[in-house]
Amino acid sequence: MDKLSKYIELLKEKDVRMTSQRVAILENLLDGNKHPTVNEIYEDLKDDFPSMSVATIYNNLKFFKEAGLVKELPFGDGSSRFDLTTVDHFHTICRNCGKIQDFHFPGLVEDDNLAQAIGNFRAEDYRFEIIGLCKECQKKLKLN
Ligand code: ZN
Ligand code: MN
Repeated sequence: MDKLSKYIELLKEKDVRMTSQRVAILENLLDGNKHPTVNEIYEDLKDDFPSMSVATIYNNLKFFKEAGLVKELPFGDGSSRFDLTTVDHFHTICRNCGKIQDFHFPGLVEDDNLAQAIGNFRAEDYRFEIIGLCKECQKKLKLN
């Protein structure tokens, strides 16, 4: 089963009704390292769905979020980016071009030392971001 069908199945199991708009939003989120904002999804889809508004997209993302398939990533500039994920992972963020890429480091959260370090703080979620320069920007800025 391809990734899209897998996500559609998961949503159906959670009784989220699939519409062509929702499939289009899922496809947009599936596109690798985009981590789009609501406005970016809107820009990508407005030609195919002229009647769809930014608010509609946001509401659909909320459904996906409640179904546990999408994470909202709050970023420093006040905007939220959306990440289609069923597997916990972390991000590198390029400070030059803004590209957000996934990396997987399961050991980080499973480590008993983490639980010890935060003491009796009750963790509900976590984010771990590494800020720097992506490969392309290192080249552009002639840093290597
Ligand atoms: Zn970059
Ligand atoms: Mn991600």
